[in-house]
Amino acid sequence: MIDLLDRPVPAFVDGDELPVGDTFDTLDPSTGDVLATLSAGGADQVDAAVSAARAALPGWRATAVLERSQLMSAFAARIRDEADWLADLECRDTGKPRSQAVVDVEQCAQYFEFAAGAVRVLHGEVIPTGPDNLAYTRREPHGVAAVIIPWNYPLQITGRTVSAAVATGNTVVLKPAEEAPLTPMALARLAHEVGFPHGVLNVVPGLGEQAGAALSEHPDVDHLSFTGSVEVGRLVGAAAARTFTPLTLELGGKSPNIVFADADLDDAVPTIVSSILQNAGQTCSAGSRLVVAREVHDELVDRVAAAFANTTIGPGVDDPDLGPLISATQRDRVAALVAAAADESTLVSGGTAPDQAPAGGFYFSPTLFAGVDPAATVAQEEVFGPVLAATPFDDPRDAARIANGTAYGLIAAIWTRDVDRAHWLANELEAGQVYVNQYGAGGGVALPFGGVKHSGHGREKGFESLVGYTRTKTIAVRTRAPR
Ligand code: NAD
Repeated sequence: MIDLLDRPVPAFVDGDELPVGDTFDTLDPSTGDVLATLSAGGADQVDAAVSAARAALPGWRATAVLERSQLMSAFAARIRDEADWLADLECRDTGKPRSQAVVDVEQCAQYFEFAAGAVRVLHGEVIPTGPDNLAYTRREPHGVAAVIIPWNYPLQITGRTVSAAVATGNTVVLKPAEEAPLTPMALARLAHEVGFPHGVLNVVPGLGEQAGAALSEHPDVDHLSFTGSVEVGRLVGAAAARTFTPLTLELGGKSPNIVFADADLDDAVPTIVSSILQNAGQTCSAGSRLVVAREVHDELVDRVAAAFANTTIGPGVDDPDLGPLISATQRDRVAALVAAAADESTLVSGGTAPDQAPAGGFYFSPTLFAGVDPAATVAQEEVFGPVLAATPFDDPRDAARIANGTAYGLIAAIWTRDVDRAHWLANELEAGQVYVNQYGAGGGVALPFGGVKHSGHGREKGFESLVGYTRTKTIAVRTRAPR
């Protein structure tokens, strides 16, 4: 176990700790109490981390693929060995129910396991160009990869980005979110303990407008991966454009469960409910819209409202159905959006902080709006809380129009027994992932994940993620026969 709660947590750079200057606190959202204090790294610490990553790059990219793969496997095993306290730390830092944190640890391990295997079959191609030519491609790492992540799934998002980047020979500088930075700090130390060379994985905690901005603007970064909000994504995108740095953007969503009248509602309802309540709705791919055939709209709304009424709410460590939101700011933002929505849509349940929630924590009740106009704010804006907006549709084309009618396009689910309709609609939807009669909430580690429109571009997860952390070099050799 690595204890990060006893003293200010320093940046981890080049296999070592940097001196701590300014600090910031991370809170336990279940109680509102300070959980830990961390170094607030600025441009100088980011610079030190990028230099360490640059220095480590030649050795790491030259390391045999088999050796990198074995390290990834060892790291996956180590993460599983440390699962208990890592889950505790994630649970307390994010406020999520402990069983969800346990899943996050396992997913994190699986990303490294997947990358360990995938990198061994990642290769270039030989391209036929004629008898006097041998033309082939190599997949080379970008170099120094900067990774900026949000607070909602620190273990999973560190896992999915770092595994693909490091397996393919990049070195990494990661900036965790200030609201939940602890498990990425722990992972960097564990990686070092299992044998990752100094400088291959560097983690600099700090504030977004300081450490985050310094990293996204750094001229010696070769690839940027940003996961977070649309607003900050725009800033990071602009910074990347100035330095022509390749960029992956994983942004927000307003993902629909689209339910036809022939759907098996007994099967659909628990998944619809968990797709919006998981992590208190603070999931980029949360099922925050219910686009439902008018014939079954009222019945489905009643069933979801009944399930919401049975939800247990409490501190993450007690493993309720619904934990707190990440911060008072986030709770107040959700409350304001809900209050505004109540003026334009019918509030069926929730809408306030729950009565039975422990004092000090940032709780909000599961909230359901029905008969929502597709143009209403609550059907258009990402709330990032346990808030579901149900909108009726009249026919499949109407369903597609409503589902596609937001600025986002991350994931979508179709609930129907009609296979023609399922395939037709899956083809029509503007989304990076489409599920039929299930809801993946981001899917397994092997499924390419990412958005269209304001949900971003590029793909994390799956084999495609490893491809994205490489660039293609084409080599053509003239091969003349002997004279
Ligand atoms: P955020 O954009 O506020 O912060 C994300 C990260 O960016 C944090 O590390 C933050 O410190 C940093 N940051 C803040 N200002 C910065 C700046 N000026 N320059 C550089 N970095 C800066 O997002 P959040 O509130 O942490 O996360 C919630 C958002 O993330 C939601 O919109 C959610 O949908 C999105 N998200 C997307 C995915 C996905 O895979 N598509 C996954 C999880 C979360």
